[in-house]
Amino acid sequence: MSPSVTSAQATVHGYPRQGPNRELKKAVEGYWTGRVDAQDLHMTAATLRRAAWQSLADAGITEIPTGDFSLYDHVLDTSVAVGAIPERHRAAVDADPLDGYFAMARGTQEVAPLEMTKWFDTNYHYLVPELGPDTGFAANPAKPVGELSEALALGHNARPVLVGPLTYLLLAKPAPGVAADFQPITLVDRLLPVYAELLEDLHAAGAEWVHLDEPCLVQDRTPAELNAAARIYRELGTVTDRPKILVATYFDRAGQALPVLAKAPIEGVGLDFTGPAAANLDDLAAVGGLPGKRLVAGVVDGRNIWINNLEKSLTTLGTLLGLADRVDVAPSCSLLHVPLDAAVERDLDPQVSRWLAFARQKTAEITTLATALSRGTDAIAAQLAANRADLASRAASAITRDPAVRARLAATTDQDAHRAQPYAERARAQRARLDLPLLPTTTIGSFPQTTDLRTARADLRAGRIDTEGYQERMRAEVREVIAYQEKAGLDVLVHGEPERNDMVQYFAEQLHGYLATQHGWVQSYGTRYVRPPVLAGDISRPAPMTVEWFRYAQSLTDRPVKGMLTGPVTMLAWSFVRDDQPPADTARQVALALRDEVGDLEAAGAAVIQVDEPALRETLPLRAADRPGYLAWATEAFRLSTSAVRADTQIHTHMCYAEFGEIMTAIDDLDADVISLEAARSHMQVAHELAQVGYPREVGPGVYDIHSPRVPSTQEAAALLRQGLAAIPAERLWVNPDCGLKTRGWPETRSSLDHLVAAARLIREELNA
Ligand code: GLN
Ligand code: ZN
Repeated sequence: MSPSVTSAQATVHGYPRQGPNRELKKAVEGYWTGRVDAQDLHMTAATLRRAAWQSLADAGITEIPTGDFSLYDHVLDTSVAVGAIPERHRAAVDADPLDGYFAMARGTQEVAPLEMTKWFDTNYHYLVPELGPDTGFAANPAKPVGELSEALALGHNARPVLVGPLTYLLLAKPAPGVAADFQPITLVDRLLPVYAELLEDLHAAGAEWVHLDEPCLVQDRTPAELNAAARIYRELGTVTDRPKILVATYFDRAGQALPVLAKAPIEGVGLDFTGPAAANLDDLAAVGGLPGKRLVAGVVDGRNIWINNLEKSLTTLGTLLGLADRVDVAPSCSLLHVPLDAAVERDLDPQVSRWLAFARQKTAEITTLATALSRGTDAIAAQLAANRADLASRAASAITRDPAVRARLAATTDQDAHRAQPYAERARAQRARLDLPLLPTTTIGSFPQTTDLRTARADLRAGRIDTEGYQERMRAEVREVIAYQEKAGLDVLVHGEPERNDMVQYFAEQLHGYLATQHGWVQSYGTRYVRPPVLAGDISRPAPMTVEWFRYAQSLTDRPVKGMLTGPVTMLAWSFVRDDQPPADTARQVALALRDEVGDLEAAGAAVIQVDEPALRETLPLRAADRPGYLAWATEAFRLSTSAVRADTQIHTHMCYAEFGEIMTAIDDLDADVISLEAARSHMQVAHELAQVGYPREVGPGVYDIHSPRVPSTQEAAALLRQGLAAIPAERLWVNPDCGLKTRGWPETRSSLDHLVAAARLIREELNA
C-alpha cells in the first residue's frame, strides 16, 4: 500500500456502557431500590459517557459514537425516541419518563414488561418493540440530541447512532391484543417522518453524520423487505436538513442488500469483513464498489476477544481503498459484546494476555490500522512487528496446541459419533435395565439455588469456609434433594446441581484450555452482566468433573440418578470461542472431553446420563445457507460426546424452547434416547410437531412452566399430558417440568412437583382402565 493515500478516520459503532467497575449497574440498581436518586443516576451516566468518549479520543479514535449508551437497552431507547410506548406503559411514562422507561424494561406490580429476546446471534438481549395498527409514532429527540450535544460540548467529533427504521420494524412484534399476523413493517410510512424529524433535530444540534444500524440486512430478506429498505433510504435521503447518513450492517455479509445500499442516496455504508462476513469483500467488488460513498470497514472482530491480524486487515483495507470514495476503519460491530479492558486482568499468564483484545485494545488496533491507511505501513512498523510476534507465540504455544488432543481428534472416525446399536435395540435394553413405570417422572437437573447455597459459595470465595466445608454443605443439599424426590415419588432422580454456579462456567473451570477472566464482564441484558469463559486452547479433561457428585447422590437411593452434563454446543455458545481454528474443531475437542466424562459416569453406575444443549438453536447462523453446515457439526459433536455408551445406558438431552421449526431434523440427528423440551405454555405443541415428522424416540414435553412462581394444578398437568398422549404414545412419553428449577423457590417447587407426580399417576390409572 502506498503511503499517504487517504486520510482515514478511526471509529467504533458503540462501546461498553458499564464503566470500568460496572458503575452503571450499581447506579441503576441503586435507583431501583431507592438508594440513588434520579439526579445522581443521570450524573453517573453522564460521567461514564464522558470517560468512555475521552478514552476513545485518547486512544486515537477520531469519530466518536454517541447515543449508543443506554441505561438499559438501546432498542428500548429507540422505542422511546420514536414514541412507540405501549398502551399499558403510557401512564407510567407520562407520570415520570425515567420510571416509565424502567417499567417498560422490567414491568411493575401492575403491568408486564416488554418481551426480551436475543439480539441476533449474540448473548445480548433487547426489549422487543410492540407495535400495532394503532401505534402512533412521535419523535422524542431528548436522548439522541442530548448525548450528541454533551459530546460536542466536550469537543469531540461525534456521530450519533440510532437503530435504523428497517431493523426497528423487523425486530418488532404485534402488541398484545393485535392480530398475530400483523406485520410491523406495514407501519413504515408512519415511522419514516419521525426518523426524518430525528435526523433534522440531530443536524440542527450539530451532527455532521448520523449512523443508522441495520443488522437486519445481513439476514435473508424477501424482495419486499429489500424494496422497503430501498424506499426507506430513498426517502431519508431526500430529507433536506439532515446529517450525512451512514447505514451500518454487521454480524454477517450484506448479500442482496449490498446493491440496495450502493444505490441508495446515502453517504456512507458500514460493512463487516470478519469471519463469514469476509464474503463482503468479493460481493462489494462484484457490485462495483461504493463510488461516491464512504465505507466504514469492520476489519476488527467486535465480538471475539482475540488480537487482530493487522497484516491481514491491511490487505483487506488495501483492496477496499479501490472500492469506495473513502475508507474508514472500525470494528465489525459495536464493542458492546466484548469486555472493556484486557489490561486489568492480573491473573492471566502474561503471554496469554498479549493475545487478548477487549474493547480498549480493539480501539488501539483500529487506530493503528487507520494510521497505516493515512500515513503508510512504515508508521506502524513497531505495532506490526509486535502483532506478528504475538500471533506467532499464540500459534506455537503449548496452550493452543496440545499434540495429544490433536492426535486423538485426528483418530476419531465417523463411527465414534454413532451409537453401536440402533435405537430399537437400545430402547429394549434400557427398558429392561431401568424398569420404569409408564409415563416416568423426572426433573431437568437443578433444584432451587437457595440463598444458603449462594452464601456457602461466597463463604468459600472469601475463605470463611474451606473446600471440605463447602463440599459438606453441598452434600447436605444433595441428601435433602434426594430424600425430597423419593418422598415426592419421582422416578428418575437428579442430584440437584447445588455445586454449579453456572452450567457452562462449572465445566469451563475444570477443563484444560479454558480460561477465566476476573473482570471480563459483558452486558447480557439491563443490569445483568456475565463473564463468559474463554476457549483459549486445545481442550482436555485432566480429571473427572461430576462423577463424585453423581456417585454420592446415587449412593443415597435405589432409584436411578441422572448424570448431568452440559453439551459441547452450549459450552461454545456461552463462551468466547477461539478464532484460530473452525468452531467445529473446538466443539469436537470439548465433545471428546465430555465423552470421557460420560464414560466415567457410566462406569460409576449411571444408567441415565443427560447432556443439555439449550443453546443448539441460538447459535444457528443468521443466513439459511449456512445452517446445514452448522447443524451438521453441532449434532456430530453432541453424538461424539454421547455415543460411546452401552446399549442399556440411556442418553437424555434437554432444550429449553418450544419452537423447533428448522432444527427438527437436527433434533433427530442427536439420536438421544430421551429429549425433554419446553412445552407447557404452548399446550404441548412441540409434541405434535415431533410426532408429525415421525420422531421415533422418547420425549418429555414440559408440563410445568418454571418461568413463574405459579403452581400448576394436578388437573392442569394432567390435561397437558392428555394432549401429549394425543401425539406421543404412552410408552415414549415422559413427565417433567419445562426446564431446571434453579431460579424457583422451594415452596412452589414442592407443590408443583407433587402435582406433576399426581398427574402422572392419574393418567397411568386412566390408561390402565
Ligand atoms: N440441567 C440444567 C438445569 O436444570 C439445564 C438448564 C438449561 O437447560 N438451561 O438447570
Ligand atoms: Zn432448560
